[in-house]
Amino acid sequence: MQNISPLPKRLKLLFVSTPVGGLGTGLGGGVELSLYNIAKYFIEQGHTLQIVAPSGSLWNRDIFNIVEITGNLQIIAQIQERDTPITMPDNSLLANMWEYARSVQNEYDLIVNFAYDWLPFYLTPFFQTPIAHFVSMGSLSNALDTVIAQISKLYPGTIGFYTPSQGATFPSLTPPLYYLSSGIDLSLYQFCAEPKEQLAILGRISPEKGLEDAVAVAAQTNIPLKIMGKIQDQAYWQKIINDYQGAPIEYLGFLPTDKMQQVVRECKALLMAPRWVEAFGNVAIEALACGVPVISYARGGPAEIVKDGKTGFLVEPDSVTGLIDAVKRLDSIDRYECRKQAETEFSLLPLGARFLQWFEDILQRIQRM
Ligand code: UDP
Repeated sequence: MQNISPLPKRLKLLFVSTPVGGLGTGLGGGVELSLYNIAKYFIEQGHTLQIVAPSGSLWNRDIFNIVEITGNLQIIAQIQERDTPITMPDNSLLANMWEYARSVQNEYDLIVNFAYDWLPFYLTPFFQTPIAHFVSMGSLSNALDTVIAQISKLYPGTIGFYTPSQGATFPSLTPPLYYLSSGIDLSLYQFCAEPKEQLAILGRISPEKGLEDAVAVAAQTNIPLKIMGKIQDQAYWQKIINDYQGAPIEYLGFLPTDKMQQVVRECKALLMAPRWVEAFGNVAIEALACGVPVISYARGGPAEIVKDGKTGFLVEPDSVTGLIDAVKRLDSIDRYECRKQAETEFSLLPLGARFLQWFEDILQRIQRM
């Protein structure tokens, strides 16, 4: 019989962030919010946590222990083809972040990778400290698929996803796989019962988000659309503006959570028109938390979140007509049901508890090996 020593009650964790942009800039998308919430949970529970992040990260240093790393940003996966070879810029930020992680690894029980990049998976067998990989997007790259499959086989249970529909986009994975969903600090989102005659779309401005379909809805219904988020693809944004001159749209920039929810809560609905399999769609639960129904194409994460006809509508993917029909049916949605769903399914404590369980399972499995 093996002698298994009990796990430490307080874990020493090293979170390694995404190398596509500083924390708080919006360039990292929803994984920034997830990292923020998970980190806060572990700090509040008394665990030791350091975050490795790109220089220029904006988070409050009174709360978070952040080590800033310099180097050139990694190219985002969304703009590459499936068979594009893995590329690294000179003085790679990603490589520098992982070089730092390597140098301090012995001080930690577990390293958690939040980057959607090939390198951390490839490096995993070269580390002595175990690495948990939180995968934040669906499958986009053959090379990344292969290395994720390899790591799931070599180190079972170390791969975590947001949702089963996201996980299903990856081939040849070895179970167990962890589906961690998401969660938010509900106290930051205020309920609004009486919306204005306006719609919202939230998120990075990039082709996979299908912003043009939401703008088409505004143009055809004449209901104003508030657009919030980081412009990641300037040419894409410019084309939408040119194509839809006169549409009642307003771009408000990338807003911090507090300002963003003040706008979203006064909207009749949040529109989501993803072209890809959205891994989760944190914006959906943020809208629900304000009592705002979500109208989304029925694919990926939002299809697992929205209760069709109760907390929003799931419509045929890529159908602008479907979105417009749903907008017309919004009066049948009870906004209290939306807030209730956020409270019962997407609060912060259960999210943190799921991550803790995942980390403990990994450490226990390693002890048994
Ligand atoms: N967001 C924000 N301010 C804005 C627009 C978006 O803070 O003005 C955040 C939003 O809260 C969410 C993230 O951007 O956390 C978008 O995440 P999502 O999971 O919806 O999509 P992703 O970018 O990861 O594909």
